[in-house]
Amino acid sequence: MKRIVVIPGDGIGREVMDAAMLVLEELDLPFDYIWMDAGDDAEKRYGKALPDETLEEAKKNDAVLFGAAGETAADVIVKLRFELETFANIRPAKSFPGVKCLYDDVDMIIVRENTECLYKGLEYEVDGVTIATRIITRKASERIIRYSFELARKEGRKRVTALHKANVMRKTCGLFRDIFRGVASEYPDIESNDYYIDAACMYMVTNPQHFDVVVTTNMFGDIVSDLAAGLVGGLGLAPSANIGERHAIFEPVHGAAFDIAGKGIANPTAMILTATMMLRHFGYIEEAKKIERAVEAVLAEGKTTPDLGGKLKTMEMAEEIARRL
Ligand code: ATP
Repeated sequence: MKRIVVIPGDGIGREVMDAAMLVLEELDLPFDYIWMDAGDDAEKRYGKALPDETLEEAKKNDAVLFGAAGETAADVIVKLRFELETFANIRPAKSFPGVKCLYDDVDMIIVRENTECLYKGLEYEVDGVTIATRIITRKASERIIRYSFELARKEGRKRVTALHKANVMRKTCGLFRDIFRGVASEYPDIESNDYYIDAACMYMVTNPQHFDVVVTTNMFGDIVSDLAAGLVGGLGLAPSANIGERHAIFEPVHGAAFDIAGKGIANPTAMILTATMMLRHFGYIEEAKKIERAVEAVLAEGKTTPDLGGKLKTMEMAEEIARRL
């Protein structure tokens, strides 16, 4: 029996989590769900956005299934990723048949370093001067770069591309680029190349088919994965997994989306596909594929939420998916 800590969080987090649970409950999975609080409301209620009990449960159980973080994101999801040492944030971006988007043949996996960079939150202010410290270490860079090559091998991918800005951030990005080139030479079966992040953003829009596995530092990874999500239909479709040695956190790429929260119109696909990433992580490949096929069928029929031009409510779309299992 796997024990999963479920944290719906803020905004649309609760709505998409209910939708994902409806789909998961259709399958006979040996999972125990432990529902815990975290986020903006938790801060108001307990004085702490990530209450101690939530962190404790997250640390002692098998995985965290997370909905969305709001204003307190830095204290909740960023902290959880650090505390649980989930060093790899895996964000696939894939076109789905029937979804109107810029390209119908995108299929890339962005691997974002999850434990350092500007997300360390080392910011200071001295007399009107604000300073942010960017930490990039040899250890974490090598770990994430190696992970991306191993992932490419495991998933039968052809190429790993690193994104950096080594011509301006010579020390931090320079280290990342040099380590990438060194590790790449150990994987002659996988093609490799590296781009400056700004040029890569353009290539990603003009020639996204070039990108297969993409590895980058924390901040660039956050930005470029939203860009990739935009190429294939938006944040409503983008799942993600945070993987560490001992822990794993599964969360959609999107945030709390307060502009649509409470209306029951959030697209549950990202959260549902996030749940399938959890199933794959635990080895329930057939069950994951079953859900993925159901999602694809529903999207192909144009049965979707307003973000993709459909009329369905969040739970109606989840019911359509669940019905096909
Ligand atoms: P964060 O920094 O926490 O990731 P964000 O600034 O990227 O948050 P989101 O909350 O992810 O912002 O939302 C960005 C936009 O995408 C919002 O305007 C929202 O309407 C849309 N959006 C995000 N998720 C969904 C979803 N599941 N369904 C429909 N629209 C969504």
